[in-house]
Amino acid sequence: MRESELESEAHRSHALEWRSDDTCMLCLIEIIRADSSSRLKIHRRFALATLNHRLNPDVTLPSFQQENSSKNLARLLQKNHNVSSQVLNTLLDSLTSVDVVDLAIEAVYRLYHHVLRDETVLDNVLTHCVQKIGEDLDQPEKWVPYLSVMQRLARLNSSAVALAISQNAKLENEMVEHLSDHLSEFVALHVVALLDPIVRSDADGILIRAGRRPILMLQLARLLQNSQCQQLVCYVLGFALMLWIKEDLQQPEHRQPDDNGRPKTQQLLSTTANGLKRIILRSQPEIQVAALQVLDALLLKCRQLTDGPQMMTVLMEQQDLAELMYDVLYGNHLPLLEFALRCLHHLSRCPPFFQHRCVILGVEPLLRVIPLTQVISVYDYL
Ligand SMILES: [Zn+2]
Repeated sequence: MRESELESEAHRSHALEWRSDDTCMLCLIEIIRADSSSRLKIHRRFALATLNHRLNPDVTLPSFQQENSSKNLARLLQKNHNVSSQVLNTLLDSLTSVDVVDLAIEAVYRLYHHVLRDETVLDNVLTHCVQKIGEDLDQPEKWVPYLSVMQRLARLNSSAVALAISQNAKLENEMVEHLSDHLSEFVALHVVALLDPIVRSDADGILIRAGRRPILMLQLARLLQNSQCQQLVCYVLGFALMLWIKEDLQQPEHRQPDDNGRPKTQQLLSTTANGLKRIILRSQPEIQVAALQVLDALLLKCRQLTDGPQMMTVLMEQQDLAELMYDVLYGNHLPLLEFALRCLHHLSRCPPFFQHRCVILGVEPLLRVIPLTQVISVYDYL
């Protein structure tokens, strides 16, 4: 298909304000809006792909003339509010069309990031996304295109995205407190990918206030226990690692009793360790390393608690963590060996470790590891 075909039948009547050197935005809009009965429907993906190409300033264009026209299109959109707002509205409406949704998500992002970069535009996009999700709050599968747009924008301005989500209390609740029980794995994947940059930046206080962190961390632990989707597991491990490194478990919100009268921390530690154990037993080495990194961070935080030794004893007994680490030491993957040794180092700082049969079980794997590990400083952990 040639770009000259991106002209609608009504092109001759289109005003000049819609045209750059070689693009008529009104033609593009008409093609992108084409409904299923129109002959233009087959051109929709091509029209959106062409728009994406022209909204990308990094693309290496073959000739000076094309480079110039690309800039002209950007200038046309920047100067003419009527044109840019109609283009934006067309793109936002296209987020409901399964056949072009991927290209529409990219185009919304590029239009804001590379061309308009205006706070009002950002607010309009975010308001539209949150409103659309709000209309289908009971059908989370329909949230995905909007979550995808917000996820991309969160990497540019996480505070604005956090603020927009916080305008809808029910949505906020579903995303944070029911991540593992109300949402399918496909939707949870998109929610985790959206929350991660928000929490990673300073914007997390808007959306995930201190009182909410224990429930978010517990929801992530449950995803680690139950998720079948490998991509979701990888996203959750990255998100959980950041939270376990950042979080202070001595804070009062973590120390409150749960329904059984035990500190919430104990349930969080046990559930997370259980989820990580499942992944370490089943996954490929790269994912096992990520899981061991989270376990390393978790055990370090556990050691720092005032009741750390008791918590660590419960963990060792419930989850057989020392035995699990010895199993890992029988492998040959160096990063795995290093993190397993780090975890054993934390466990060995808990006095019951030496009263347990696990000390005897550890002699053989530890002796085996010593000649294998010229790269890692194994002696640091012995
Ligand atoms: Zn036209």
